[in-house]
Amino acid sequence: MTAYDPPLRDELRGEVPYGAPQLDVPVRLNVNENPYPPSAGLVADITAAVADAAGRLNRYPDREATGLRADLAKYLKSFEGVDVEPARVWAANGSNEVMHQLLLAFGGPGRTVLGFAPTYSMYPQYCRDTFTGYLTVDRRPDFSLDVELATQAVRDYRPVVTLLTSPNNPTGTALPLSEAETITVAAAEHGGVVVVDEAYAEFRRPGTTSALQLLDAHPNLVVTRTMSKAFAYAGARVGYLVADAAVVDAVRIVRLPYHLSAVTQAVASAALARAGELLAAVATLRDERDATVTWLREAGFEVAESDANFVLFGRFADRHAIWQGLLDRGVLIRESGPQPWLRVSVGTTAEMATFRSALLEVTKRRVEVDA
Ligand SMILES: *Cc1c(COP(=O)(O)O)cnc(C)c1O
Repeated sequence: MTAYDPPLRDELRGEVPYGAPQLDVPVRLNVNENPYPPSAGLVADITAAVADAAGRLNRYPDREATGLRADLAKYLKSFEGVDVEPARVWAANGSNEVMHQLLLAFGGPGRTVLGFAPTYSMYPQYCRDTFTGYLTVDRRPDFSLDVELATQAVRDYRPVVTLLTSPNNPTGTALPLSEAETITVAAAEHGGVVVVDEAYAEFRRPGTTSALQLLDAHPNLVVTRTMSKAFAYAGARVGYLVADAAVVDAVRIVRLPYHLSAVTQAVASAALARAGELLAAVATLRDERDATVTWLREAGFEVAESDANFVLFGRFADRHAIWQGLLDRGVLIRESGPQPWLRVSVGTTAEMATFRSALLEVTKRRVEVDA
């Protein structure tokens, strides 16, 4: 430690870096990671792809990530049934960087972003970093959006970007397609962009539709996605957006040159080639999620509807005590969202069993076991 006081921007004084605790405990269910590591086959493919890229690391990577964007478009065609040109797909180091680039391009002094609370805690930080205002409108008590209120807020505040998160983090709430469309149409009246953050889209339940379906009809709509969750690739740092090609062109103006390394581009394409295998594990996690919701309800907890790979449950008078009690038993979850609630990411069957017994111990509740 030194006594040096660097010339930090005034509004950053006292701020702390974002991040949940990274603790080395047996059961880590706090940052919505996918618990399944890459298969031996995928590890072999990644290794070969990196070896191939390694021989060319003296050169800058493809600035436009042409191959990766084509592979992402192919994935969307095969698994979501949407036809998009690679020119309408953009990739960066995690969807966090995608969102940051969107706000670099569209935010700025005098401009406002609108979100719906409780929601992802990074949004105000992207706004802070890009000198953009951030406003929120509250969700209903069940965490769904009040669409009348949302469209009214869009008309009143004229946000340059409206952030719709579906499924929402930390609540797990999905947004019906018709509501996303209503808000997108309202935003178009003043030339605003709507971003649907679909970081957890692949975990959605049957009957929930992706906003990708709306893209062709609404050029002011942007859908962001990530390989961090469904693709079990959080360590690789790959996120992407799908939008009108004009949005991609806007983001290309503010991206740092060569922002996506040759190694990242290669390993991302290696995983996309095994999308089928990776999405099979997502189905297992969806079942585990539904079982967790059912169990929590039977145990007497309140549980928010979840279309994601995590569950928000409560309510606790002292959630920190519950969080700490679980941690003492080797289970790390997240104090996230509104005070009386806790969020648990869906892990393996064994991890969830450990979570359940630790939770019962800590809360001293009994589950009614059916005969
Ligand atoms: C996890 C998450 C992301 C994705 O983060 P990456 O940078 O792609 O790892 C984006 N939005 C939300 C709401 C998330 O929870």
